[in-house]
Amino acid sequence: MPRIELLKDSTVRKIAAGEVIVRPSSVVKELLENSLDAGAKRITIEVRRGGKDLIRVIDNGCGMEREDVPLSIHRYATSKLKDIEDLNSLSYLGFRGEALASIASVSKLKIITNTDDSKSATLLEAEEGKIKEIRECARPRGTTVEVNALFYNLPVRRGFLKSPNYELRLIIETIKSYGIAYPEVSFTLISEGEEILLLPEAGSIKERLQVFYSKEEVESLKECRIDNPTISIYGYISDPLRPLDYPLQLTYFNKRPARNRVVGKVMNEVYGSKQNPPGYLLFFKIPPELLDVNIHPTKSEVRFKDERFLYDFLTQTVKKTLDIKEQERIGERLSQQDFLTEERERKFWQLHNSYIFAQVQTGYVIIDQHVAHERIIYEEILEKRGQLSQKLLFPITIELPWELYSIFEEVKDTLASLGIEAKGFGERTIVIEAVPAETKIGRQEILELLMELKDMDKAKLHYEEEVAKVIACKAAIKAGKRLSQEEMESLINRLFACQNPYFCPHGRPIIIRVSLEDLNRKFGRE
Ligand code: ADP
Ligand code: MG
Repeated sequence: MPRIELLKDSTVRKIAAGEVIVRPSSVVKELLENSLDAGAKRITIEVRRGGKDLIRVIDNGCGMEREDVPLSIHRYATSKLKDIEDLNSLSYLGFRGEALASIASVSKLKIITNTDDSKSATLLEAEEGKIKEIRECARPRGTTVEVNALFYNLPVRRGFLKSPNYELRLIIETIKSYGIAYPEVSFTLISEGEEILLLPEAGSIKERLQVFYSKEEVESLKECRIDNPTISIYGYISDPLRPLDYPLQLTYFNKRPARNRVVGKVMNEVYGSKQNPPGYLLFFKIPPELLDVNIHPTKSEVRFKDERFLYDFLTQTVKKTLDIKEQERIGERLSQQDFLTEERERKFWQLHNSYIFAQVQTGYVIIDQHVAHERIIYEEILEKRGQLSQKLLFPITIELPWELYSIFEEVKDTLASLGIEAKGFGERTIVIEAVPAETKIGRQEILELLMELKDMDKAKLHYEEEVAKVIACKAAIKAGKRLSQEEMESLINRLFACQNPYFCPHGRPIIIRVSLEDLNRKFGRE
C-alpha cells in the first residue's frame, strides 16, 4: 500500500472547482449571477467555440474596489455574507464565495473592474488560481470577467466537453433562464463575434418571453398567482389545448433558477398527456428557512422542508388556474341548454366513432367520448361511493396470476369503497360480485385495473382518487365505439352535470370549442 499523503493545495482546488464548474454554461451562470448581484442593468456575454476558448461577461454593475479584487478569487471570499446565520436570509444569488475561486483554478482568468467612472480601474490576471498580474487600467464603472481556455489544466475534463454548438446551446438556455426572471436587465450574447441573442430591456416577463415565443403563444399562457403566508406562486402555465412549439419549463425559487422534482411531477400529473408536455414558468417565493438550496453544489436543485405541502398546494393552484380560465372561455355560455334545439332534428354526429360533434348556439364543439365518459364515471363513483354499486346477475370469476392476487388483497377495500365488490376465493381466484351501475366492468377491465394498480404507491396522497381515475379509465367507453343519438345525448347530459366537464381526471381536455367568429375569421369573412 502506498503511504497516505495530503493532496496538494492546487489539486484540492481543482477537485472542488469541478463540483461548481462543470462546463462553459456553468461559468456563464456564475458570472451572470455575479453581475446581477452587482446590480447590473446591461450584461454582454461573449463566447468563442461554445465558451471552450473564451467566455467574457461585461456588466455595468457596482464594480469592485481595488483592494477587493485579489480577494474575489479567494475561496470563501464573498462580500455578500457576513456570518453563517445569514445563510437563512439570502437576497443575493451568490453567497459562498466559491465561483471566482473555482473558475480561477481551472482557467486563465482576467478581471477588469471599476466602481466609479471618475476613478481608474483595476486589472487582475490569474492562472491556476494564482495572481500573475495586478495593475491599474481604464474602464468605466462595471466589471468584465474573462475566462480563457477553460479546463486547460484538466485535459480529461476538457475532453469531456461536447461540441461547441452543443455547449453554446446550453449557454443560451442559461441566459434565457436568467433573462426571463430579470426583464428589466438587457442581455446580449455574442458568439464568434456575431450577436446571436438580444434581450432588450423589457417592461414585463411576458414582453421578454416574446423573444423566445410567438405573440400568440405568449398570449395563450395562463397567469397563475397565489399568495399564502408560507408560499406564494406567480407565473404562467400553458393552455392544455395550446401546447407550445418550444418547451418552456422553468422554475425559480426566490428568483434563483432551479429545479425541484415535485414541480415537474405535479405538472405532469395535472396535464396528464405525455405527448403534450406542460409549459410552465413559475416563481416561488418562500421564506429561505423552508428551502434547502445547498444540496447541490451548483445550486441547480432545491428541496423543500415540506415537499408534501408543496405537492398539494401546487396541484390546487394549477387546477384552479386551469379551471377558472377554462370556464371563462368555454363555460360561460356553454351548458346543456345550448345543445337543445326546438325541432327534433339531428343534434349530434359521431366522427370516426370517437368524437362527438355538436352544433351549439355560438359555434360548434367536439367532445372526446372516452375522456368525457371517464370524467362522468370518476365523479360519480367518488360522489356516490358504494351506493352506485350494482349486484351482478352473473358474478365474474377470475383466476389471477400470482402477483396480481397479492395486489388484489391490498386494494380490495379501496375497490369496495368505490363500488367494485369482490371476494378472494381459494388460492388465487377472485369473484366480482358488484360493479358501479352503468359501467361495463368485466374480466379484461379487472385484469387491466390490477395491472395498473401494481405500480401505484398505496401511501400516495389521494390514493383513493388515483384508484378512481384508473377505474374510470378502464370502465369508460373506448374510442372507436359507435354511439346512437340517445347514447350521445345521455353522455352529454351527464357530462354537464359534472363539476368539471372540461378536463378528464388526468387533465386532458374533454371539449374543444370553435366559435362562429373563429370560423368566419378563418374563411376571411370578417
Ligand atoms: P459569491 O458570488 O458567492 O460572493 P464569487 O466567487 O462569485 O462569490 O464572487 C466573489 C466576490 O467578488 C463577490 O462577493 C463580489 O463581491 C465580487 N464580484 C464578483 N463578480 C462581481 C461583479 N461582476 N461585480 C461586482 N463584484 C463582483
Ligand atoms: Mg457568485
